[in-house]
Amino acid sequence: MNISESCYISDTYLAEQLALAGTESQALIERGGAVKYNTIGKTVHVRGLIELSNLCSKSCLYCGIRSGNSNVERYNLSDNEILDSVRFAYDNGYGSIALQAGELTDKRFIVRIDRLLRKIKQLSNNQIGITLSLGEQSFDTYRRWFESGAHRYLLRIETSNRELYKRLHPCDGFHDFDNRLKCLQNIKSIGYQTGTGVMIGLPFQSLSDLANDLLFMKNFGVDMVGMGPFVEHDDTPLNGISGVLPLRQRFELTLRMIALLRIIMPDINMVASTAMQTIDPMGREKAVMAGANIIMPNITPKMFRNRYMLYNNKPGVNEDVQDSLSFIEARLRQFDHSIGYEQWGDSLHFKLKRLKR
Ligand code: SAH
Repeated sequence: MNISESCYISDTYLAEQLALAGTESQALIERGGAVKYNTIGKTVHVRGLIELSNLCSKSCLYCGIRSGNSNVERYNLSDNEILDSVRFAYDNGYGSIALQAGELTDKRFIVRIDRLLRKIKQLSNNQIGITLSLGEQSFDTYRRWFESGAHRYLLRIETSNRELYKRLHPCDGFHDFDNRLKCLQNIKSIGYQTGTGVMIGLPFQSLSDLANDLLFMKNFGVDMVGMGPFVEHDDTPLNGISGVLPLRQRFELTLRMIALLRIIMPDINMVASTAMQTIDPMGREKAVMAGANIIMPNITPKMFRNRYMLYNNKPGVNEDVQDSLSFIEARLRQFDHSIGYEQWGDSLHFKLKRLKR
């Protein structure tokens, strides 16, 4: 069956595809890459990732910077450190930056981000694109940041299975699946290019859950997706839990997720996640070959990187080389891909949606 020609896609079919192994798995991954090439070409767009701060009010059971982890040395970049990173991105051909942090919702934080957005627009002559990934916020906050210049927002649903979501988050009234969903709807209605995603290979997660994650993203009509393998962090409650797939299998499963999503949503933007690179030094490139078209090199000042440890062995902590555009470009060239310098690299899905309105 050619699933891209039908509007109906069954979860059992997707789960079967996710279970493929060997040459059949390889063929699926190659098909994902071919669909991407035929729809949006072989240009990879980059977002310089600035990890503003690891201060976080949440305590997600999988995350290394959860508030409950007292082994983390907390940091908060100054405005100047952030703006220097943006200037670096602007001067080095990045078309966009992404601001990410742990989750804060206090007034000072909201005002600060607002101020930074305006300054970023100013220093880049309104040219640099801005993605935010700052967690769950109120409708008014999302709107305020949109009006100040952010135009993409990435909020992973983490898993679309609400029971599994409950198992992965503390029961403290601050981690509510419905609120996360509501936030995504708000982000979309305000007019952001809306991004979500999931972790792959989580404890208690089945192939059927992942198939439903793909359908969730399709039905929601997301413009961008960032999904990657779950990787343990030593200081979290989910560390050492039994029954999870070996890392290598999570990696291969992620490639099939990327390929399948590209086949059912050919024109979205999809990130080759850093977590892929943790498992395989060529992880990002392999994700690109399976259908991803975005890379987010880390441009956070180096001295802070080892404190934004979402999971064990997060790459890029001690060296810049792997995340320099010349390095990435040389790697991509081996696979006949190039970098879209000084371009926003907006999601085609979003652009077409606009035209249809
Ligand atoms: N506070 C923001 C950003 C969170 S960190 C927010 O809530 O959106 C960004 C992403 O890292 C998370 O959405 C999660 O999917 C991923 N992440 C966290 N811990 C992880 C782990 N142990 N393995 C893999 N990915 C992880």
